[in-house]
Amino acid sequence: MRLAAKLVLVYLIGLLLIVGLFSYLTIQNERRLAAALHQQQAADIIASMSRKLESVYRSVHPREELQQVLRQTTSLQTKRMKMRLVEPGGSGSSAPPPGVPIDVIVTQRSMTTISMPDPSGEERLYTYVPIAGTKEFPRGTIEVSAPDNTAKDRLHRSLMRSAIAILGVTVLSGVVVLFGGILMVGKPLKQLISKVHQVGEGNFDGPLDVKQNDELGRLGVAINQMCEQLKSQRQKIDEETAARIATVGQLRHADRLSTLGRLAAGVAHEMGTPLNVVSGRAELIASGELSSDQTRRSALTIKQESDRIAGIIRSLLDFARRGNPNRDRADLAALVDETVTMMRPLAEKKNVDIRWTRTESPMISKVDSGQIRQVLTNLIVNAISAMDGQAGDTITISARSAKSDDPSVAPIEMHQIDIVDNGHGIEEEHLESIFEPFFTTKDVGEGTGLGLSIAHGIIEDHEGRIEVSSVLGEGTRFSVLLPVDEADEILLNQDSQQLLENASTDRVDPLPTPGSSRSEYNI
Ligand code: ADP
Repeated sequence: MRLAAKLVLVYLIGLLLIVGLFSYLTIQNERRLAAALHQQQAADIIASMSRKLESVYRSVHPREELQQVLRQTTSLQTKRMKMRLVEPGGSGSSAPPPGVPIDVIVTQRSMTTISMPDPSGEERLYTYVPIAGTKEFPRGTIEVSAPDNTAKDRLHRSLMRSAIAILGVTVLSGVVVLFGGILMVGKPLKQLISKVHQVGEGNFDGPLDVKQNDELGRLGVAINQMCEQLKSQRQKIDEETAARIATVGQLRHADRLSTLGRLAAGVAHEMGTPLNVVSGRAELIASGELSSDQTRRSALTIKQESDRIAGIIRSLLDFARRGNPNRDRADLAALVDETVTMMRPLAEKKNVDIRWTRTESPMISKVDSGQIRQVLTNLIVNAISAMDGQAGDTITISARSAKSDDPSVAPIEMHQIDIVDNGHGIEEEHLESIFEPFFTTKDVGEGTGLGLSIAHGIIEDHEGRIEVSSVLGEGTRFSVLLPVDEADEILLNQDSQQLLENASTDRVDPLPTPGSSRSEYNI
């Protein structure tokens, strides 16, 4: 309902109440006037009978005489006026009327007028006039009654007046709503609303043309000022954004140069040492001063160092030319099985126990099995290297289902493989760098710093993610998440509850829960 119509409705209800109250009070007043008039008439009639009443009191049968006088007087009055003697204990024609308080007949010594319906339902005015008593005829009251002709008229008149007043005000209100509400409120409000919509859509142009000099006019002016401010702020934000984009571009360029520099430094560092060895040994052989045994050993060293260089180049090529994975449906649990079997001898050699808790149902995903094996191998090798070979060194591998965490799209089902070790952990400042190429904390010749960057690239190519969390001195957890194969998703939804229960009971988790002092870095 429109605002103006609502206001008019409230106004009309209030008016109705006031007019109703006024009509009621008017009717009451007219009723009182009619009663007073009737009482006056009754008093006049009784006064005109005073002589006759005196002779009645002196007569032998005053009651009968009085009734006779009253009948005669009644017949002289208009047909509808009635008079009769009413006595407290009287019966028949002198019985007190029902509905009249008894004290009006018994004790009241002054005239009383009452308006009430007679037995036929017609509204009548009754005036009770007390008369002095004698020894023979101690007490009595004369009832003078007449129909209250004006009662219906009064009600009718009053209702008519109220109806006319309400109709008039309703018509007036309609005119106010039509012309005042629509022209003065509705039209400018419509303009304001469409302007607000326009602002909501980001268009601050075209100021509002509000000519009114009232609250709505002031609101229009305020909206125009707001649009101007928003316009200039947007201009400022656009300029700042452009500057930021330029800065980000420069930073990216600088970052690319620094990565390239680090890459070059890494290559130089990794290849420099074996190349020096190769060059030194080759020089020795070329000098011809070596014995045949020394020449053979130098040649073997040259071979070993060349293999090392070839290995570095292979890793670099893996990193650089990762290309599209050759993906097929595969059971991730089976891939973990194979990798664990392959890595067990190395782990045992280093006194490390590998515990793998596999899920009952297969973990189907569309992956390049060779590449995923490479990722798992890399993570397990790193975990083994992070331990000192003491008793109790353990790598715990478990699997469960999870959901993707990209807030911009609907979550999808993922398989999660956790590889948890209780090794020396990763320093917090290193967590952001471990996925960079050539970042390594290992000694020269022990690590190339390419393993995690290659693993990260592979998992990213599979639309998955790698998460890492670590507590220095306590251990590290790497989690590999890969999307569930669509055909398997429905099945997994049914089984997910069961899987979660299994995972939570089987998994041995040596790390504190997220939210503690653990350092985390998600890729
Ligand atoms: P590399 O193993 O050749 O050093 P990676 O890219 O595989 O290269 O690893 C980079 C670095 O990340 C490692 O040098 C090591 O400092 C750290 N790292 C990786 N995995 C672990 C782990 N499980 N525990 C402790 N540190 C780790």
